[in-house]
Amino acid sequence: SSPQPAVPSPQPAWDDATGAARVRALFATTFGGEPDGVWSAPGRVNIVGEHTDYNGGLCLPIALPHRTYVAVAARPGTRRLRLVSAQEPGPAREVDLDAVGPVGTTGEVRGWAAYVAGVLWALEAEGLAAGLPGLDVAVDSCVPAGAGLSSSAALECAVAVAVDDLAGLGLAGPAGAPDDGGRARLAAACVRAENEVAGAPTGGMDQAAALRALAGHALLLDCRDGQVEHVPLNLTAAGLELLVIDTRAEHRLVDGQYARRRQVCEAAATVLGVPDLRAVAEDIGSGATTLDEVLPRLADDEQRRRVRHVVTEIERVRTLVGLLGDAEGLAGPALRRAGAVLDASHESLRDDYEVSSPELDLAVAAAREAGALGARMTGGGFGGSAIALVEAGATGEVMSAVAAAFSAAGLADPAFLRATASGPAG
Ligand code: ADP
Repeated sequence: SSPQPAVPSPQPAWDDATGAARVRALFATTFGGEPDGVWSAPGRVNIVGEHTDYNGGLCLPIALPHRTYVAVAARPGTRRLRLVSAQEPGPAREVDLDAVGPVGTTGEVRGWAAYVAGVLWALEAEGLAAGLPGLDVAVDSCVPAGAGLSSSAALECAVAVAVDDLAGLGLAGPAGAPDDGGRARLAAACVRAENEVAGAPTGGMDQAAALRALAGHALLLDCRDGQVEHVPLNLTAAGLELLVIDTRAEHRLVDGQYARRRQVCEAAATVLGVPDLRAVAEDIGSGATTLDEVLPRLADDEQRRRVRHVVTEIERVRTLVGLLGDAEGLAGPALRRAGAVLDASHESLRDDYEVSSPELDLAVAAAREAGALGARMTGGGFGGSAIALVEAGATGEVMSAVAAAFSAAGLADPAFLRATASGPAG
């Protein structure tokens, strides 16, 4: 008989001691000596509310227990960055802070260094800091890169809290202090770093999650005004687990497709005479209009399908938040409905928004067939990761089923992570 395939196991997150030891060792071998300190920030996974952020909508991410660690020393009197990452082979990168600028200018920074240099540039451009010193920075991470789990935001936000601390900006606040909006300003700087210096379009959810999520809570982010609510999320108490399935499939065409989706949403809002599609969702929510009245006013079928996704997805965020608020219900009757919300989100992203991929569809279908209560693609799409809401005892079965489906389809092995709502950058 053929040997039984091994049951896949989730990729563990490092504890802080491990992350700090690794990054200190890299710092010592690269730059010599001790850093001024170690800071870290989490990857994120979005539970529901996809492609809503740039429409002024709602989303509901959690911070992952998987984090990016930076060991940093200030180099007072210089404006030079020296950067090394365990995830990027090669010698340390050097960047002159005075020469950094947006993509397409002479100050363009190539490769991963843009995510670090961009944060310092953006803090100065936003007027949150002036004349920052050069830095030595060593990076190590257990956030899978390019999996749609925001390793880039984790890197930016770890650097942001390090600079905040070292330069005494006082924006992140001490651990546990109530957020007075300083973290929102840091997040805005990180978004500018990613948009303008790294040249990657992003709507702001990732940096908000990495800087503003709380352990044990999902972050209800209102992307219109940046307001957040912390929604208690205790899946363990309900006997549930949120499983991340990293399809390991490359993001294809994602840049052009993402820009195209944004354009169509903006054009649809213009046709409807509203500032953004959130306004449409609000009007429908208040009973002022209905989706059936709105859709015929749009220019074409593409606009109709994109708008239907955004409007129904915002509604799904509200529905899921309502279900999570009912802790007893979540353990009982509301449970199936929470799964159904994820399923409906996936169908909408696949059919109306057209950002799924064969790998994501396969992961979702296999997880559901193996007993997941609900599953959906998460993140921008065209590859990356899916999530599945699973009864705690069934996680092994779901992982095995997804792995078997990928193997049967001739695809590379997927990877799995357990997503427990974890703490923010610090
Ligand atoms: P993700 O969904 O993981 O954010 P992106 O493609 O947006 O995917 O960002 C991944 C990029 O971020 C990498 O190609 C690299 O440039 C940068 N990056 C992320 N993590 C690290 C790290 N630990 N070290 C160096 N660069 C990193």
